[in-house]
Amino acid sequence: MSSNAVQPPFRSGALRDPSLPAPDFPAQEQAAPGLAQKMDPLPDHGETSYRGTGRLAGKRALITGGDSGIGAAAAIAYAREGADVAITYLPQEQPDADRVVEIIRGEGRVAIAITGDLREEAFCKEMVESAVSQLGGLDILVNNAGRQQFCHKLEDLTTEAFDATMKTNVYAPFWVTRAALPHLETGASIIITSSVQAFSPSEHLFDYAQSKAANVAFAQSLAKQLAPRGIRVNAVCPGPYWTALQVSGGQPTEKAKEHGANQPLGRPGQPVEIAPIYVLLASDEASYITGEYFGSVGGSGL
Ligand code: NAD
Ligand code: MG
Repeated sequence: MSSNAVQPPFRSGALRDPSLPAPDFPAQEQAAPGLAQKMDPLPDHGETSYRGTGRLAGKRALITGGDSGIGAAAAIAYAREGADVAITYLPQEQPDADRVVEIIRGEGRVAIAITGDLREEAFCKEMVESAVSQLGGLDILVNNAGRQQFCHKLEDLTTEAFDATMKTNVYAPFWVTRAALPHLETGASIIITSSVQAFSPSEHLFDYAQSKAANVAFAQSLAKQLAPRGIRVNAVCPGPYWTALQVSGGQPTEKAKEHGANQPLGRPGQPVEIAPIYVLLASDEASYITGEYFGSVGGSGL
């Protein structure tokens, strides 16, 4: 990026900015869950580029998978908008989590880091209680952690792999949200990260696509259930974003090299580019927005 370029989300002509990373990307592979800081090129989580305007002043947020990718971009944006933020992540992701915590604290906001495996019901419950007690309450819950491991043939998809995807992407949001609900009051916002895969499932993401369709139903059902309590629930459906998920078994290496190439914009989104949706849905400005899903796919639509 040229030194005088205006950074996103205020970059002019951002859609066609030739300085934004586009395929072909260098071939790269990491073991899941992967580290964002080992990616080439590095994803833009908004570290230096996201500017806040106080839209979440005084709010308290919990973001699962807030160490990297879309969750990290939301965490950084929330802190810049004036929120205190708790993030969760797996132990292997400590270096990415440290980075996000440092940025949040650099904004003068409280950062809570909680590590553990969301596939365990007991951890989900303890993690929520710990986050709520350290934050002094909870206003925003972002169910964002996810597992995506490609598999070309159904005959090769093991029960263990199928179960791990469902535990991470379907059970964990249920367990986490159920534990969080007693702490959420009128005006609170719940967000779940689904995917374009909910609507256009790829042949090699059989289990993942089903779990992401479940995430849309999560938002649509729970929004109706919680409307009388004044709690909003929405889903975000990203298309191809440049995150560790994709280079850590989410896509075959050859496909990851071309991540986003098929979109009209010809590139993947950078995590910072989806942060404004998470900010809007969390803010009081979205008071009539619930039970919806929001795409950011790169031009082809949901
Ligand atoms: P990412 O790898 O940076 O983030 C995913 C996070 O999930 C990890 O950082 C990890 O902390 C967490 N996680 C995974 N398994 C876990 C477990 N068992 N216990 C605890 N935490 C666990 O990748 P990302 O792309 O930012 O993913 C965030 C969300 O976005 C996911 O739900 C993913 O399905 C969704 N998504 C991503 C894309 C994309 O192209 N990157 C597209 C559509 C949807
Ligand atoms: Mg991570």
